[in-house]
Amino acid sequence: MMLHIPTLLIVAVFVFCLMGLLTVHAWSRGREPTLGYLGIMLLFASLGTGLIVVRGAGMDFVALIIGNLVLLLSAAMNWTAMRAFVHRGPNMPGIFAGCGLWLVMCLVPQFYNSLSARVMLYSLLAAAYGVLSALELWRKRASLEVAYAPALVLTLWHTGFYAIRAFLDPGLPLKSAQTSAGDGVPFFSFMLFESMLYAIGIAYVTLAMVKERAELRFKAAAFSDALTGAGNRRAFMQKGEQLLADSARRQQTVALLLCDLDNFKRLNDSFGHPMGDQALIAFSQVTRATLRKGDLFARIGGEEFACLLADSDEAVAFEVAERIRQAFAHLDLLAPGFLSVSIGIVSTDRAGYDLSHLLSQADQALYLAKAQGRNRVQRMATA
Ligand code: GH3
Ligand code: MG
Ligand code: MG
Repeated sequence: MMLHIPTLLIVAVFVFCLMGLLTVHAWSRGREPTLGYLGIMLLFASLGTGLIVVRGAGMDFVALIIGNLVLLLSAAMNWTAMRAFVHRGPNMPGIFAGCGLWLVMCLVPQFYNSLSARVMLYSLLAAAYGVLSALELWRKRASLEVAYAPALVLTLWHTGFYAIRAFLDPGLPLKSAQTSAGDGVPFFSFMLFESMLYAIGIAYVTLAMVKERAELRFKAAAFSDALTGAGNRRAFMQKGEQLLADSARRQQTVALLLCDLDNFKRLNDSFGHPMGDQALIAFSQVTRATLRKGDLFARIGGEEFACLLADSDEAVAFEVAERIRQAFAHLDLLAPGFLSVSIGIVSTDRAGYDLSHLLSQADQALYLAKAQGRNRVQRMATA
């Protein structure tokens, strides 16, 4: 059975147009550039395919030159969308290289009049844009964080198809297109099917990637403190319970440091709130530089921070806390005496593996540190 080419072309125009409009609508909600370029790609695909429809209506050059030119721009927009996804801007020379080459070649009569030459060049250019799109994702795969494999597989499939087409497709003479019979019809029908499925597939998986990344960002924001970049209380409670449960299973001691900056209200009053913010940032930096990779650090209140030290007993925790206290006190951010921190320490050896209980015990130690004059590290009092 031969498929009816004019019908397939019209269906393709509408499918591309619908996908394009939906993608542009998705773009308008969050202005994510990837979706904007993808929307343009699909709308160009619709326009380019629409222009091919006019072939045979006495306007061959419109279909052959402008139609294919728009389709090549569409392929370039696919590449640009993938660049945008990996935070790269559009490559203007690259975008116009494909259609520029097409235009120049169409000025050569031998090329313009050769169906097989046109099929080969167009297919090779489409495949080249496919390779570029896949490369964008592949190069940044380590930092993408989202499921990029479906987009990569789809793009490679599409690219492979055009690479094969460049050498195997006999091309579709106008007569065969109009009668939907003869050489070239099976390949052309398959190509239209492939393009429609690719358009739907790439729009779907790219939208999924964009949404997945947005979700990850919101999640990260919900678990971090905007000022210092440290984890927030929610992150501390969630990850802390996990760390304690793992350590309890392995029978490893965990130590908790509860840090409260001293006389912070006075610091704010004397130097202003922005300087107070700088002190909070500086404390975070000092502490993070002191802790190990497996330790947990968070800002759990206004000027209150907590650290859970994995596989550490009270003696180790005391050393770490002393290093933090001294490093912070020696910062030259403010006049001497204005930057200091009091730290309460407790370990699971004495208080067990319940995080809330550990926090309340460390708070008592911290209270003692404040009562004894601040700028000091205090262990839990023995009963
Ligand atoms: P103490 O030595 O007993 O801990 O005294 P303190 O002044 O540090 O404690 P207090 O709880 O009285 O004051 C804490 C201050 O921390 C009050 C609040 O304005 C300030 N603070 C809380 N969050 C922020 C913040 O994000 N930025 C700044 N600049 N200040 C903050
Ligand atoms: Mg406080
Ligand atoms: Mg304080």
